[in-house]
Amino acid sequence: MSELLDNAINSIQLGIEDYQSNDERRPISALRNFYAGVLLLGKECLLQAAPDADPMEVLASKYAPRLDDDGNLTIGPKGQSTIDLQELRERFGGFGLKWPDGNIKDLQKLRNDFEHYHSKAPKETIRQTIAACFPLVEGFFAILELSPSAMLGGTWDVMLAERAFFEKQKAACDATLEKLPWWDHVWDSSHFQCTACNSSLIYQSDADNKDPAMVRGHCKACGEEYSAEETTAMIVQSLFGADDYVAVKDGGEQVIHHCPECSVEAYVESGEFTGCFFCDYSIDDECARCSTPLTVATQSVNNPHLCDYCDHVSSRAD
Ligand SMILES: [Zn+2]
Ligand SMILES: [Zn+2]
Ligand SMILES: [Zn+2]
Repeated sequence: MSELLDNAINSIQLGIEDYQSNDERRPISALRNFYAGVLLLGKECLLQAAPDADPMEVLASKYAPRLDDDGNLTIGPKGQSTIDLQELRERFGGFGLKWPDGNIKDLQKLRNDFEHYHSKAPKETIRQTIAACFPLVEGFFAILELSPSAMLGGTWDVMLAERAFFEKQKAACDATLEKLPWWDHVWDSSHFQCTACNSSLIYQSDADNKDPAMVRGHCKACGEEYSAEETTAMIVQSLFGADDYVAVKDGGEQVIHHCPECSVEAYVESGEFTGCFFCDYSIDDECARCSTPLTVATQSVNNPHLCDYCDHVSSRAD
C-alpha cells in the first residue's frame, strides 16, 4: 500500500473515531481528520492514474518553467505545497477521471468555520455533513478499485450505519412536507438548508397541513423554529439560491423575487418553474395590450395585466 493511501485510511479512521467519541473537543478533530483523509484519498486516485510519474509532479500546486543544461524548456513543481480541494477537482478533469457524487464542500466549510469562528454547529449537522461525503469516499475507492469495507474495516460499518440513520431522519422530515403544493417543484430535498445551522432536516409540526401559510417549520438538527413565511423563503432560497447568485453575477435577471401578490420572498422565475411557493400566484404570461412576456421586472405595479410601458401609455390616454 502506498504511504499516501495508508495516511488517507488512517485519517478517515481517526476522524470517525473522534466523531463517535462524546468528548466535547472532538468534533473539530473529527472534521479535521476526516476532511484530510478524504482529500488524501482523492490525491491517491491521481497518483494511481499516473503510476510512473513523480508524485510531487502530479500533486504540486504550483509549477514553474526552467531551462535544463541543454537549454530545453521543462516544467516542474515549484515549492512544496500540494493541491487543495478545488485544484484536486480540476485535476480530476485534466486526468480524465470522473469526480464522484457526494458533497465535500459543506465539510470544508464546516471545518473552516470551526477553525476560525468556533462554530456551534450541533452534532446533527456534523453528522449530516460527514455523511454527505460518504458517496465521495465510496467513489474514490471505486476509482482505486479497492473495497472500502476491506480497507476501512469497522470504520466503514460505522459510516454505513451513520448514513442509514441520517437517511431515516431525512425521510421522516420530508414526509411532513409532502402534502404542501410546492413539494412537486422540489427536485432534490437534500438541498434544503436551515438558515441557522445548514442542516437539511427541515420539517413542519403538522404533517397533515397542506397550506403553506399555516406551516410551522422546525429544524431537527438545531431545534430552530420558523414562521410560515420564513420556512417557505428558506426552502426557495435552498432550491434556487445558487441559480439566483449565478444569474445576478452574470448580469442576468434574478431568479428569486418578493412575490407581487403576497410580498414573501418566494416568487421564482426559473426555466423549470414560475410562480410563488407561498401563495401560488403567478403573473399573466403576457401583457394584455402588447403581448410581450410579463415578468416581475416588466409587470406594471399599477396594473398586473399590463407591462410597464403599456400601463404608462394607457394611463396617459385617460
Ligand atoms: Zn438548524
Ligand atoms: Zn406569493
Ligand atoms: Zn405591453
